[in-house]
Amino acid sequence: MNRLTIIGNWKMNTTPESAHILGYNISKILSDGGMGNIVICPPHISLDRVAQAVAGSSIRVGAQDVHPEPSGAFTGEVSAPMLAELVEFVIVGHSERRTLFAESDEFIAGKVTASIEAGLKPILCVGESLEDRRAGRAESVVSSQLLACLANVTDVSSLLVAYEPVWAIGTGEAATPQISQDMMSSIRSALRSGFGDAAHAVPCLYGGSVNADNVQSFLRQPDIDGALVGGASLDAESFVAIVARASEVAAD
Ligand code: PEP
Repeated sequence: MNRLTIIGNWKMNTTPESAHILGYNISKILSDGGMGNIVICPPHISLDRVAQAVAGSSIRVGAQDVHPEPSGAFTGEVSAPMLAELVEFVIVGHSERRTLFAESDEFIAGKVTASIEAGLKPILCVGESLEDRRAGRAESVVSSQLLACLANVTDVSSLLVAYEPVWAIGTGEAATPQISQDMMSSIRSALRSGFGDAAHAVPCLYGGSVNADNVQSFLRQPDIDGALVGGASLDAESFVAIVARASEVAAD
């Protein structure tokens, strides 16, 4: 996979109609392609319409979550085989799922394996709280999340990892490039310890209050391959501006 990867997480925003329009607008402005892997993750209900809106463009589509089981009595849930007919990527372990829906590393590990088995590319999110950082345990918390969520994985060729410090998500207070680089280097060594040389090919992204003004400072770090963008992905022009600034760094 070309390493530059910019992912937009729309969270619980947009209706099917407005998601279609947003996806269409992003794909029209980015029609040239050649800017790395651009993935947009609308709500489940809009995946089909957004996939149609971006068909024929270089934009790819991802889901925001998945259930570990392939089918069954799980009212309201969506499984990996269902998603695999519509999309290529899926976000798992986002901090909002961990905190608001009490998802454990073990539960997230089931989502990762279910996604890989169904042919999806999981975007595994990890990140420490402000309390963890202040207590000096950010790196150990993140490494332990990472390895626990990958406990049943043997092949990381379809995996992406997003480091998203909880204190930087939706706050306008992005981590510094140095904090992100230090953590990413620690993530890469945890991946290497679990998966050897295959870990080198895993795209590692930073997420947390990324915008067009700060994206280059993250992408200039040696271990950061891209960004996971929340709020700024909800406006076609601001998302495209992030992609454009990111691809300038990739072209350097
Ligand atoms: C996110 O939700 O993954 C995220 C990084 O959000 P924001 O860019 O708004 O901080």
